[in-house]
Amino acid sequence: MSRAPDASLADHHASRSGHKGIDYPFGERAPEPGALIEVAPGTGWMRLPIPGPLKHINVWAIDDGDGVALVDTGLPLDSSKDAWRAALAGPLAGRTVTRIIVTHMHPDHLGLAGWLTKKFGVRLWMTRGEYLTARMLVADARPAPPDDVIVTWRGAGWDDEQIAAATARGWGYFARAVHRLPDGYVRVREGDRLGDWRAEIGTGHSPEHLCLVHDRNRVMIAGDQILPRISSIVAISTTEPEADPLGEWLESLARLRADLPGDLLVLPAHGFPFTGVHARLDALIAGHEKQLARLEERLKEAPRRAVDCFGVMFARAIGPELLGMATGETLAHLVHLEKRGRAKREVREGVWWWSAAVPN
Ligand SMILES: [Zn+2]
Ligand SMILES: [Zn+2]
Repeated sequence: MSRAPDASLADHHASRSGHKGIDYPFGERAPEPGALIEVAPGTGWMRLPIPGPLKHINVWAIDDGDGVALVDTGLPLDSSKDAWRAALAGPLAGRTVTRIIVTHMHPDHLGLAGWLTKKFGVRLWMTRGEYLTARMLVADARPAPPDDVIVTWRGAGWDDEQIAAATARGWGYFARAVHRLPDGYVRVREGDRLGDWRAEIGTGHSPEHLCLVHDRNRVMIAGDQILPRISSIVAISTTEPEADPLGEWLESLARLRADLPGDLLVLPAHGFPFTGVHARLDALIAGHEKQLARLEERLKEAPRRAVDCFGVMFARAIGPELLGMATGETLAHLVHLEKRGRAKREVREGVWWWSAAVPN
């Protein structure tokens, strides 16, 4: 579970997130496992314990016709299941569960979707990008990392020992991090209505991240697309090593900044419900721009590999358990500098060396 895509590096970024203009209308109060706090009409907040630095995921029960829809699901562990059982026997007792909605494919969100859909005989609602990516990862049960992945690791500057250690840890962990998924789902698209909620889709943290906006109540279920205090992981995935996820992420944040009303109550997957969405989006964008500028300064000194840039990217030393995510996130920033014409890459014996380029 410690390799869940967004559950380990998040706390390293706490220092670079601003808090100005952000308010927490419920303070630091959070529901105990099995309890529910109504944060808006027909919108219940619950928390499930998960291991790792995040410690919890927030999940939501939203009124849906005659019943209640559940948004996000926790990890397939007894701690998360017990919290669900307590909620279903407590605040949700007697309610009909209408559907399971999952914001994105990361195991802390998707992990128990198959368990819940089966329990209630209901459908899973997701975007296509998230559902299909999850199905692809579940099916990739090979024991050792594919050659393409090793090319990326070598390109980033991993040495033989690091590659051997990562190879020994195996591959295909995703299938173990999610309960068996339903074989079918209901596709959600940008702008779709789910009851009173409107779908807003973001990219960069995950392929097609679903957020839900209740325009009348001024509430947004944000998943990992907009978090308070910590910034979501944006990393090069080994499936799309040439992609520019940070470019997509910054575009998404800018689009949300333009589209969302400023007076929303934001319900994030980790942390506390907050107001001040515009200030938060501005701070997230500024944080990445600052990071890019620092990285560019480092490249001006001399050509660097991704592994040489961890000191600029992260507040603490990167051990073997964080190496994969640190590499993915550093590469995302380097590739984005390259796309902007501010860095260039030279390949020497399979290793990518990045240097600063004067933009024209
Ligand atoms: Zn996530
Ligand atoms: Zn998450």
